[in-house]
Amino acid sequence: MFKATVFTIFPELFPGFLGYSLTGKALEDGLWSIEAINIRDYATDKHGSVDDTPCGGGAGMVMRADILGSAISANYSKGKIIAMSPKGKPLTQDMVRQYAKEEQLYIVCGRFEGIDERVLEAYDIEEVSIGDYVLTGGEQAAQVLLDAVIRLLPNVLGNEESTVDESFENNLLEYPQYTRPTEWQGRVVPEVLLSGHHKKIADWRLEQSIKTTQDRRPDLWKKYLDSKKV
Ligand code: SAM
Repeated sequence: MFKATVFTIFPELFPGFLGYSLTGKALEDGLWSIEAINIRDYATDKHGSVDDTPCGGGAGMVMRADILGSAISANYSKGKIIAMSPKGKPLTQDMVRQYAKEEQLYIVCGRFEGIDERVLEAYDIEEVSIGDYVLTGGEQAAQVLLDAVIRLLPNVLGNEESTVDESFENNLLEYPQYTRPTEWQGRVVPEVLLSGHHKKIADWRLEQSIKTTQDRRPDLWKKYLDSKKV
């Protein structure tokens, strides 16, 4: 069973969004579990301080290596440790698929100006970003990553919610989706989708996926073409 251990100064934020909908049901059903470790429990002063001013000067505060290191050492057994960070490797569906194979994933949530670099080196921590923008803290980013991972765990999605046709499978974005009513404000659902002709529907969907990917994500389209060459 997949277990996530999150290091944070706000343990009360977990499971947070993950406690709802499919991920919440899967948590209730025991398909995954989460433990939020309060880094402040490893502070050495009575105020529970976990940060200090940056060496070399500059704005803000930095999470201390000794406090965070103690929290990790006291709770780590085996497996991958990642830290959420805007300067990390951009998260992709391929990375999500790899994380979903782990039994145990440790996630460090940064706050302030970030984490003392020595902790990242000492514990061989991989930094992961959820996009080219800066959030206030790593907790939201960790929940985004975990949501993507949990929905890939065995038995979390029912048959009716398969991931096979989803965006990023085969390096394509998903085709447009429609439901009833078949006419709304003069806009009609594409006729082929009402035809019941499975082959024609599959061809139309592939064509639309290709068109959307070419228009919106030339980088992904290039990957798709490269994969076809192989
Ligand atoms: N000073 C850092 C920088 O310029 O790279 C930004 C620190 S940010 C204010 C505080 C924390 O939020 C980070 O340590 C990280 O854990 C989290 N965070 C912010 N943006 C993120 C992103 N795009 N992806 C993942 N985590 C992020």
